[in-house]
Amino acid sequence: MISIKNLNKSYKMGKNTLHVLKGIDLEIAEGEFVAIMGSSGSGKSTLLNIIGMLDEHDSGIYDLDGFRIEKLNETKAANYRNKFLGFIFQSYNLINFKNVVENVALPLYYQKVKRSERHKFAMGYLQRVGLEPWANHMPNELSGGQKQRVAIARALAARPKLLLADEPTGALDTKTSQEVMHLIQEINDEGKTILMVTHEDDIAQMCKRIVRLKDGVIISDEKVNQVRV
Ligand code: ADP
Ligand code: MG
Repeated sequence: MISIKNLNKSYKMGKNTLHVLKGIDLEIAEGEFVAIMGSSGSGKSTLLNIIGMLDEHDSGIYDLDGFRIEKLNETKAANYRNKFLGFIFQSYNLINFKNVVENVALPLYYQKVKRSERHKFAMGYLQRVGLEPWANHMPNELSGGQKQRVAIARALAARPKLLLADEPTGALDTKTSQEVMHLIQEINDEGKTILMVTHEDDIAQMCKRIVRLKDGVIISDEKVNQVRV
């Protein structure tokens, strides 16, 4: 699903160049559940954003589901994102002036699903994350864990081939983190390929493979005996 070879990324800030990703090689197959682990500033989000076509690499090869991702114009990148990818962020990124079911239906709008169908599909995904009764509530009426469940339902509604999550439990307490990870594990059990960034070891241990980044270099890549919650 993902094939990355010798990928490099730098940020220029004035006269200085910060080399953030230094020759990354990474292969991820369909159905995998991979954690990218590393301390703050190691380049995890940069890598995830490049994989998610929210940012561009400077050099190296990135193939996603057989497509070579090169310099993309924004329209083309948006098309790829809508077709292939679902995103989950630490800060949920829900639209605060839309209610829960409208948030979940948003990717269906971008995929040009008929209005009459969108609500029905969105309700199905809300049911999947156990939040059907909250459909008509506004995001600010929900707890952090509930907001992240809505964000997960929204990501699934895009019917993505690949789910990308950047510190999905980063804003949640331990118990709620476990509940959200349990849901993400189930979604992987159902066959979805998931790539997740975290700096927390106990969260990474709930994935099936851990890729450790340090200063922009992969220092280890190993299968783990997934901790079930
Ligand atoms: P992580 O997610 O592992 O904490 P990031 O990928 O966010 O790390 O950042 C890696 C390094 O790149 C950090 O030093 C960060 O300050 C820098 N960085 C990230 N994004 C940008 C940007 N848009 N412009 C300049 N520097 C950035
Ligand atoms: Mg980050």
